[in-house]
Amino acid sequence: MSEHIIVCSTTSNMLKGEKALRKSGIPVRLIPTPKRYGKLCTTSIVIPSEMKSYAEAILQKEKVEYTGIYELEPFRADGLLPEDKKIGEDFAALIKKIESGEDLTLKEIERLLATENPAEIEALLAAGDRMRQKTVGDVVDIRGAVEFSNHCRKNCNYCGLRRSNISLPRYRMMPHEIVEAAVEMRKLGISTVILQSGEDLWYTEEKMVNIIRSIKRETGMRITLSLGERPRHELEAFRKAGANNYLLKIESANRKIFELAHPDDDYDARVKNIRDLKELGYITGSGCIVGLPGQRPEHLAEDILFLKEMGINMVGIGPFLPARNTPFENMPPGDVLMSLKMVAVARLVLKHVFIPSTTAMATISPDGQKKGLLSGANVIMVNFTPLRYRKAYEIYSNKAVVTLKSAVDLVKSIGRKLPPYIKEIE
Ligand code: SAH
Ligand code: SF4
Repeated sequence: MSEHIIVCSTTSNMLKGEKALRKSGIPVRLIPTPKRYGKLCTTSIVIPSEMKSYAEAILQKEKVEYTGIYELEPFRADGLLPEDKKIGEDFAALIKKIESGEDLTLKEIERLLATENPAEIEALLAAGDRMRQKTVGDVVDIRGAVEFSNHCRKNCNYCGLRRSNISLPRYRMMPHEIVEAAVEMRKLGISTVILQSGEDLWYTEEKMVNIIRSIKRETGMRITLSLGERPRHELEAFRKAGANNYLLKIESANRKIFELAHPDDDYDARVKNIRDLKELGYITGSGCIVGLPGQRPEHLAEDILFLKEMGINMVGIGPFLPARNTPFENMPPGDVLMSLKMVAVARLVLKHVFIPSTTAMATISPDGQKKGLLSGANVIMVNFTPLRYRKAYEIYSNKAVVTLKSAVDLVKSIGRKLPPYIKEIE
């Protein structure tokens, strides 16, 4: 199916355009603007080619400013492979296969992830970085997160917020505090706010709708929710109120591993909830934890294919980190290299997606976040949770703090670009 890409002049025009097109029944998806189409707006709208004229008429009627509508070229990438003779022939053939735009099988993805040959690992991470450059360019998106409640009704075995952890002091931010945190980050130029919490039903549908509306009204920001599983009708209400993105990780696409880590979650219900998000028009984030008990490269390969099949737009990959007072507290942390390999393979297989270099990467190793950005990642999430609550949002222990300054310094130190909206604080 051929597709066209609509590149808008600003984020607000893009959002207005996306809404108008969707309302008119055009199936739209949002992707990071490929660098060859300019960098005015970091996100662009993709539509089926046969709807181009109809879409243009709608954009004109709604006075949406866009810089162009182009045919989205089928993806081909060359130059992913380094001139290195120490990598296996079959490994090189797989990278070549990616270059030609062909899909990899589960076994082939497993082969990439399972390598322990240093030359192959280096080649894989470098290929992820080149693919990042070719698909989404050099801009690193910077988003702000508010962890607004650490109450949770669930008991995930890896997570410090699990309800059985009675030694964790619990907090809830009041709706006005959440809105204030968003206003504060907007002043610094940030245009996407992530609202994250444990599964806390104190925030009823009505309360969340009011929070979303207030943030939209006062800041106009893109809103990402990460509240865990919620019934479809609530997700729909949040979307209607103005939420744009939703993060709900599958954690492991392998049913057995998922079940071992989630005593009170149902695998099929999680998948269905992720599907609901897609159907409701959310830009959908998902992802996995690297280093769960029993997880081997073949399972991680399953994760990658799951994300591809579900059409996930934002991919969060982070190593498992032990959290105090949890069943997994004495387990070894996930492997940094394996996490980096996953970032690279996610980029190579999924191509035009947003991939954060996660806080878990920053926590596990001092240069973990930098290495993530150099292996395929293109987003950083900055923590805007008020200091008085931050320590208690202990999903895992000794969590690194990513500040706007550390993010900006990191982006500059590796010669990447800050998004235009963040310019004012450069
Ligand atoms: N309750 C929501 C959002 C908060 S948890 C939810 O579960 O979706 C956000 C993410 O933190 C989870 O998706 C999980 O991948 C990650 N996480 C929690 N505990 C972790 C740990 N010990 N190590 C690594 N990641 C962890
Ligand atoms: Fe709750 Fe999310 Fe932690 Fe599970 S991962 S215990 S749902 S906060």
